[in-house]
Amino acid sequence: MIDKLIKKIQKTRFLTQKFRADFALNRASAGFSNDLKDITFTLLSDKSKGAFIYDVDGNQYIDLTMGFGSIFFGHNHSSLRNRIIQQLKISWSVGPISPLAAQLASKINQVTGNERTAFFNSGTEAVMVALRLAKAGTKKNKIVFFKGSYHGTFDSLLSIKSDSQTKIAQEIIPGVTQSILNESILLDYGKAESLTYIKEHIHEIAGVLVEPVQSRNPALQPVEFLKELAQITEKSNIALIFDEVITGFRIGLGGAQEYFGIRADIVTYGKVIGGGMPIGVVSGAAKYLDITDGGVWTYGDDSFPTVKQTFVAGTFCHHPLAMASALKTIELLEKNNAEVYELLNSRTEKFCNALNAFFQSNHYPLSVSHFASLFRFTTPGKTKLLYNYMLLHGIYVWEGRNCFLSSSHSDTIIQKLEKIIQKCCFQMEKDGVLVRRSRV
Ligand code: PMP
Repeated sequence: MIDKLIKKIQKTRFLTQKFRADFALNRASAGFSNDLKDITFTLLSDKSKGAFIYDVDGNQYIDLTMGFGSIFFGHNHSSLRNRIIQQLKISWSVGPISPLAAQLASKINQVTGNERTAFFNSGTEAVMVALRLAKAGTKKNKIVFFKGSYHGTFDSLLSIKSDSQTKIAQEIIPGVTQSILNESILLDYGKAESLTYIKEHIHEIAGVLVEPVQSRNPALQPVEFLKELAQITEKSNIALIFDEVITGFRIGLGGAQEYFGIRADIVTYGKVIGGGMPIGVVSGAAKYLDITDGGVWTYGDDSFPTVKQTFVAGTFCHHPLAMASALKTIELLEKNNAEVYELLNSRTEKFCNALNAFFQSNHYPLSVSHFASLFRFTTPGKTKLLYNYMLLHGIYVWEGRNCFLSSSHSDTIIQKLEKIIQKCCFQMEKDGVLVRRSRV
């Protein structure tokens, strides 16, 4: 497999090596190990269409990465492309705010039931602002978040380990120092003890940040835990923050809030809503969003911004291309809403069920779990080579391994995916990297 893969992606390897000294690219060393050194790379691609991407060697792959989940309708979708080109012809300048931003805020509030909305550039930035609003709004300083979640690269959330007594997140990444983590409490997700901890520390907790369905563990959907959490936070002047960067606009227009029937105080969105353009959204209760602009006031009377403002800003925060693309995305999602979501979500479910049935009937120690169009394989030990085998046989999955289907993954493409994955498993078994459970 290694020899064949090296041959297949020659140009990716060549360019990676040629530019390594100039281009500090973390993904090109992701998961480095000596035995897999020669196939440690990140694929270089300059073309994509529908469910397919093409690498610089000209190979075609069925894409399961789909822009890390930001491409909902398939690559290079004609309606989105046309809308972006139309906007390019008018203006892509920032400075004065494009009126599209106001339209988008209203639209998001309308379809999600949130009260107010603000725009940033990425999910990370949205999460960072959400935490600031929680601290400002509650006048407390601790943020609870949960093991297994991913919220982007904001320093105070970059930990996966907490102190066994205090539950304070611990320093594990070079450059993310303990002092920056001291206001971050890292608890177990879905566990009753975590709710007990929160109840006992109400006086200091500003916000509880949740990825309602963790992309790294989509099978875990602790709805009762979330409902109880919402009851606790509501009574306790704690901001319940839903990070819906992945679930938002994916499970349905109302995201995880609607799906689980729980209203959060602050919600962050990204990915799907941007239609492939960079975006981060902070949305939710006026109580918190008012801290960005002082609250609503009116011309011609004696009203004024009554809420003490924090600081939020950013050169590209309301980029006209992102605003146009997001408005078009909502329009497409609203049109045939039921079919878009039902078809994609049920296709993903059927696909994952078929794969699990195949793994089980062959006693392979592999499984796949999903939520809406997000899915993730469990690949213990050496079976993680599945991703390399898939690449060799024409399926692309990025190094973080979250997988997504888009509405352009037709039934025919899905059947092809199933066949390729089955073929990969048989080949892995032959090569001795996948061993049937009954033979262990
Ligand atoms: N929150 C969640 C739940 C995410 O999955 C991600 C990115 N995968 C982020 C936040 C960060 O978003 P971005 O990469 O746009 O900064």
